[in-house]
Amino acid sequence: MTVVAIDGPAGAGKSTVARELAAALGFAYLDTGAMYRAVGLLSLRAPDRAPGDLARAARIELGERVRLDGEDVTEAIRAPEASEAASRVAADPAVREALVARQREIVGQGDWVAEGRDVGTVVAPGAAVKVFLTATDDERARRRARQSGQDHAAVLAEQSRRDERDSTRPTSPLLLAADAVTVDTDGLSVGEIVQHIVGLVRSATGAVD
Ligand code: C5P
Repeated sequence: MTVVAIDGPAGAGKSTVARELAAALGFAYLDTGAMYRAVGLLSLRAPDRAPGDLARAARIELGERVRLDGEDVTEAIRAPEASEAASRVAADPAVREALVARQREIVGQGDWVAEGRDVGTVVAPGAAVKVFLTATDDERARRRARQSGQDHAAVLAEQSRRDERDSTRPTSPLLLAADAVTVDTDGLSVGEIVQHIVGLVRSATGAVD
């Protein structure tokens, strides 16, 4: 059982890198952010219910498509309101407790590349390799604006708000694990980043085998 943790702020390229890395290694891929997004969507739809209760009751299926209680929410969870709601519910300790428990169960069997904010610190502190992906604020906003078609300044403002909330919440803030390797993605291609991390995984797993 091997876990590779890919943590970092929004727009650092985690999803693209983590997916391609999983394919290159032949590992399964876990997008923990999609789970927070699904609970965020539920909280927009049921604002009077406690987010922790929503998180405990939600049936979230991850894969090529994301299903929430049977409904395909792959696109809905990527809408700006859902991003904002995800970051809000992610600050709730009851939500984190429910989702982290599920994530630990998932990565407890098999080989995984898991991406998020707290994979290396909380979900899988024993991960074989922990990567903290970064890029400058401007570069991250540029990438997200390109993906979503939104205005660069609006994306930058929303990103700073989310970064601030993700970094300052008392429960599982976005933190660099002591044993994480920081990879700055500015100016690197996805292929270069993936190859670099594959090298880290080979030497780490070679060392314990
Ligand atoms: O990674 P993604 O942008 O899809 O995550 C959406 C939101 O979910 C983040 O802004 C963050 O607030 C939250 N999140 C988290 N812990 C994780 C993954 C995501 O708090 N492990």
